[in-house]
Amino acid sequence: MARVLIDYKSYPFLINLREALEVKYPGLRIEDVISLTDNYPRRRSLYLLKTIITKGYIVEGSGTSEDETLVFYSLLIGAKALNDKKLISKIALSYAKYSSRKLSKEPIPLIIMIARKLGLDAEVVKNPPRIPIGVKKRKAEYITKPIAIPVKQYLRLTASRLARDPKYSLANQIVDNGKVFIDRDIMIRLIEEEIFKKILEMADSIEYDINKLSSYLDEYKKILEETRWFERKGLDLEKAKVIGYNPKALPPCMKNLISRLENGDNLSHHERFTVAAFLTNIGLDTDTILEFFKNTPDYNEKIARYQVEHIAGLRGSRKKYLPYNCDTMKSLGICPINNYCGKGRNPLTIYYYNIRKMKDREEVVEN
Ligand code: SF4
Repeated sequence: MARVLIDYKSYPFLINLREALEVKYPGLRIEDVISLTDNYPRRRSLYLLKTIITKGYIVEGSGTSEDETLVFYSLLIGAKALNDKKLISKIALSYAKYSSRKLSKEPIPLIIMIARKLGLDAEVVKNPPRIPIGVKKRKAEYITKPIAIPVKQYLRLTASRLARDPKYSLANQIVDNGKVFIDRDIMIRLIEEEIFKKILEMADSIEYDINKLSSYLDEYKKILEETRWFERKGLDLEKAKVIGYNPKALPPCMKNLISRLENGDNLSHHERFTVAAFLTNIGLDTDTILEFFKNTPDYNEKIARYQVEHIAGLRGSRKKYLPYNCDTMKSLGICPINNYCGKGRNPLTIYYYNIRKMKDREEVVEN
């Protein structure tokens, strides 16, 4: 019989953090690794943070099993350090679903191995019970239940999120001698539950030195806030980042402010702030943004650079600011129109909407 091997990349929570560190970064702690500015665990964990928030999805990685283990722990430590229970739960669920997808392509012996590694007493049954489901060409047809699991474990795993689904009700299973007999799909679903619970427990007990995490946490927090903001607005962060500056898509407020900057007008503090925040959020870098401010009467490059970098989250609190929303713009007298531009309530939303519409129009012409 062929040997069954587990590809731990698909189940990184099964590898001990210390073991993974010893293989990849001997002598270092995970805090030391992710404090370094550029390495696989830091880069990929921050990338996955976005896909987990927006899609609840783990994208396949190119790292080794140990790399993926370090990525997993980095993500979990970030969420734990920020005391973000909702995020911990989302990470746990995303990994549980990712592993479940992988398990659906694995043979039964490997599914059982994973179940056992998670502490479940699952086993393959030699003479599995068969349930007759009909007759075809004069022959009785059956479905088999080739896996057995103790009733106690089965009840524990189906007690919360699966409780309302009759498919998992004990009354609909074959039970004999303290064991429930199930098929591979139900086993995989139970494993998914166990992974979810296990990751939540791991988050409870994980240890780290928060003092060594500041640079990682700053970036983590920034991505979290930014991604959630875009998610609330129904926008795609990845697309938004590459959009850049397109004067035709500007909402009237930004058109007006930018035109006044070009004419050398002296903008108020609020006006400067909101236009700089707008430009930084559509992906312009500091030097490009400074070009917009060069004609202002009191322009001082050193001060302007500091302020723009502060708004872009590159200095001080490292928080990236958003432009004021439309209601604030109206109350400050910066919005030049009486109603609203559209459904969005922030100039950024309107800008992205306009860009999308322009792209749709281009696509129609190209086709
Ligand atoms: S409604 Fe909002 S986006 Fe439109 S001009 Fe006013 S502030 Fe700008």
